[in-house]
Amino acid sequence: MTTTHCPYCALQCAMHLDPGPTGELTVRPAEFPTNRGGLCRKGWTSTELLSSPQRLTRPLLRRNRTDDFTEVDWDTALDHVAERLTRLRAQRGPDAVAVFGSGALTNEKSYLLGKFARLALGTSQIDYNGRFCMSSAAAAGTRAFGLDRGMPFPLADLAGAEVVLLAGANPAETMPPMMGHLSAPRLIVVDPRHSATAAQALHNGGMHLAPRPGSDLALALGLLHAAHLEGLLDTTYIAERTTGFETAWRNAAAFWPQHTEHLTGVPAPQIRAAARMLAKARGAYVLTGRGTEQHAKGTDTVSAWINLALALGLPGRQGSGYGCITGQGNGQGGREHGQKADQLPGYRRIDDPTARAELARVWGVAERTLPGPGPSATELLDSLGEDTGPHAMLLLGANPVVSAPDATHVRDRMARLELLVVADFVMSESAAMADVVLPTAQWAEERGTMTNLEGRVLRRRAATPPPAGVRTDLEVINALATRLGQPDERFPTDPDTVLAEIGTATTGAPADYSGVSPTRLDSGEALHWPVAATGTPTPRLFLDSFAHPDGRARFVPVNHRPPAEDTTPEYPLLATTGRVMGHYQSGAQTRRVAELARAEPQAHVEMHPDTAARNGLVQGQWARVTSRRGSTTAQVRLHPQARLDTVFLPFHYDADQAANNLTNPALDPTSRMPEFKVSAVRVEPHHDE
Ligand code: SF4
Repeated sequence: MTTTHCPYCALQCAMHLDPGPTGELTVRPAEFPTNRGGLCRKGWTSTELLSSPQRLTRPLLRRNRTDDFTEVDWDTALDHVAERLTRLRAQRGPDAVAVFGSGALTNEKSYLLGKFARLALGTSQIDYNGRFCMSSAAAAGTRAFGLDRGMPFPLADLAGAEVVLLAGANPAETMPPMMGHLSAPRLIVVDPRHSATAAQALHNGGMHLAPRPGSDLALALGLLHAAHLEGLLDTTYIAERTTGFETAWRNAAAFWPQHTEHLTGVPAPQIRAAARMLAKARGAYVLTGRGTEQHAKGTDTVSAWINLALALGLPGRQGSGYGCITGQGNGQGGREHGQKADQLPGYRRIDDPTARAELARVWGVAERTLPGPGPSATELLDSLGEDTGPHAMLLLGANPVVSAPDATHVRDRMARLELLVVADFVMSESAAMADVVLPTAQWAEERGTMTNLEGRVLRRRAATPPPAGVRTDLEVINALATRLGQPDERFPTDPDTVLAEIGTATTGAPADYSGVSPTRLDSGEALHWPVAATGTPTPRLFLDSFAHPDGRARFVPVNHRPPAEDTTPEYPLLATTGRVMGHYQSGAQTRRVAELARAEPQAHVEMHPDTAARNGLVQGQWARVTSRRGSTTAQVRLHPQARLDTVFLPFHYDADQAANNLTNPALDPTSRMPEFKVSAVRVEPHHDE
């Protein structure tokens, strides 16, 4: 029996893997504070892909995109990649090569990938799909508290609260075991959809506020206004633990309940009732998710929710708080170790001279050789093949032709690359476009650490060896780095050695891992970062002071603004996107698991029956959904509680069922998060069924 953690979301449920009589692994849930013996159907079926016939086990190469792939040995594939990269760099400079990583990679892979980009390639062109996940919450958390650790408290604390406000999160569907922590508190769910979580909130005496997509910032300001109007703000906390309230309030002062109702569609009495429920609770949390974060104003929207939490005196108090529900498996660790365009390991800025000097010393290079900040994921993808943009890309653990906004455009850009190298264990839609595909090991075949949504570092353990012919991502990085002239010892292939180096590289940094070790992890100790080499780490941050130099949290003045695009007679509806229980991210893995594929085999578009009728659609019919950027097809699913102006599509499907054919790449000015959650669309019957 091997005890490890699920390969999918940031809850990182613990599980036991038992070898069956034929060597196949079966799953049993394990007791762990986040999942408390529960798993969702994705976790239960997570071993199926290990022995799937769709598994890649041989490197694939084609010298011409119009050719089929040919199976080759590793040396042929790696030599080809190294030779092409070397030539491109000599012709066009180091930034001609891009690296695209993932929030699914272990901490060790994230770290080594960032080091590979900066040392072996010397490129600034590295970012990852976590940019599409929690970057707005990370930016807002950093500016409010001086530090972003998604949940600065253990998940289990939620169970003791009286009220939890969930802004743009649907854990009943995306992380079902999390609902075990939310059964006692009353929930206030903010979501344009009548989601499974919204239904549970109403069932348990809570509330569902359904704002028009793109108006949640106004709703947060309206809730702050309503709480202030009724004298419910925590003035002592505001005076003692924060700065900037008066400036932030000047913006919120205009958001009378009636005005907020006009902007959001949420009735004024509901706004007042929700403000009262939250403010009067003995123990309350405000949690944000992708629904409120994936906007061209996502950072300001999260700031508005944090301002509300601060005004009610919640963050940094035992039994109350603000947190972000990170989505991807290593969404938290993935943003700490240097695969993000603007960051170095330890969650330090790449333009911080002290951090650069320290890291250069650890890596044994001159500081001036470290590249500066590069473009964000969306901008990087948009520049592929441009004169001054990258002409080659190395992709690990991501599938941007399905998961990036304006997917048709991304596909066109990727097709312009001179060299696309994808390391993956299945033929994802992005791998299918590649020149070289490198087959890699899966989660249960290698060791490594992940950092879950509460900042707790966890150990993944190998339960079975990888199939013959497959290499780990660390081995792939090492093989490419050495072919590009790097010393072998600079790119270790042993995960524990990389973890030790992460500890050295992050000593004293905000995300300090210097005290994380396999021994401590194996002992079951709860290591929520920062984990210094000495002392006991605390799962609860900010109880005494926030991470700004003066110890106070910052109110950030923010104001409502409309989405990047609005409805017109040609595009009269708003589309919003999200996830369903059976699939994960781009679906490259879960669409290949038989039970999950059977449960949700195709894309659907959820809408109100009246919306369907107005557009000539009925339940089960195929619809074409079209935005200014492209179109997709999906089966109509009627929902009597849907907003009349909004349709919802899951984004797990590819090609002509890809919801991201519709989405808007307009970017948040701070986090560079695209506007996944609001696209103006029209729906009509699809006749080519
Ligand atoms: Fe748990 Fe998430 Fe895995 Fe489901 S997908 S079992 S909620 S970690």
